[in-house]
Amino acid sequence: MLVVMKKHATEAQIQQVEHRFAEWGIPVQRISGVERTAWGTLGNHRPFDPDKIAVLDGVDYVHQVTEPYKLANRSFHPADSTIRIRDVEIGRPDEVILMAGPCSIESEAQINTVAAIVKESGAKILRGGAFKPRTSPYSFQGLGEPGLKLIRAAADRYDLLVVSEVMDKSQLPLMQDYVDIFQVGARNMYNYDLLKELGALPKPVLLKRGISATLEELLMSAEYIMAGGNPAVILCERGIRTFENYTRNTFDVSAIPTLQARSHLPVIADPSHGVGIREYVPAMARAAVAAGAHGLLVEVHPDPDQALSDGVQSLNPAQFLMMIDQCRQIAAAMGKQL
Ligand code: PEP
Ligand code: MN
Repeated sequence: MLVVMKKHATEAQIQQVEHRFAEWGIPVQRISGVERTAWGTLGNHRPFDPDKIAVLDGVDYVHQVTEPYKLANRSFHPADSTIRIRDVEIGRPDEVILMAGPCSIESEAQINTVAAIVKESGAKILRGGAFKPRTSPYSFQGLGEPGLKLIRAAADRYDLLVVSEVMDKSQLPLMQDYVDIFQVGARNMYNYDLLKELGALPKPVLLKRGISATLEELLMSAEYIMAGGNPAVILCERGIRTFENYTRNTFDVSAIPTLQARSHLPVIADPSHGVGIREYVPAMARAAVAAGAHGLLVEVHPDPDQALSDGVQSLNPAQFLMMIDQCRQIAAAMGKQL
């Protein structure tokens, strides 16, 4: 971090900045120019709030030289991180992990039918929401605990893991017994209280990018979970809101290599929410695999037109299986298994 004083800063103001760094135990190198004084912080010091320096009298600006996220940063952890849950390892360079299932768990028959198709596709993880963050309070809100029981039983029947969304920290004690991976949805990427609680739990977290979040903000949200002591974070690109309205969201393929360059955490793609229209989902899934995603999160429903949520973007079983076959060929061309 670089701290630069104003041209006519007084000696007392300069002393105050030095005093503050000394108080916090942050090593700095002072640069005394002809007109200005500046400091560079040295080494891998403990994090501090740059605003606490920026507000001091006489300070002109504070420039962040390195990224504000440390634990999620590839600079401090050059090797890829992988996350192991039973015999599934997410983040391997030679495998694309498939997570698929309905948007919402709706009934025993629905989740069992989907689980069978998901298994047939070669996927290792069954998705399905029991707590649904819907834009309208009048839309289906999810089955809650009965839904969690259904998805757990269906996953166990087909030897699959379960990923399901947690909307509020009050749901964590209940959900712990049913899910293998907690999903944090796009709407909750900024729910720092929830992220802190997840940091204290021994379970992986699939963290989705907010609809208007920069990649740095996503990585800072990952940092919250990691700073709490939980290193098992999976990043997920799920489309962002742009001026385009022919698609529900704009799927940001560039987020995949960019996140992988900046961070050692696994990066997966959700082409279903990413584009939001069934017809275009396979193309986005293929693009995500070609871009190097460590995994895919896909919505599939036995009868999408009757789905209680996100039917418009859900694939039917035949479309889903055909798409996975195409993705598998792309993965193979890249020397990866799917
Ligand atoms: C979902 O996965 O069904 C979901 C609500 O996703 P998102 O948070 O990306 O909108
Ligand atoms: Mn959905």
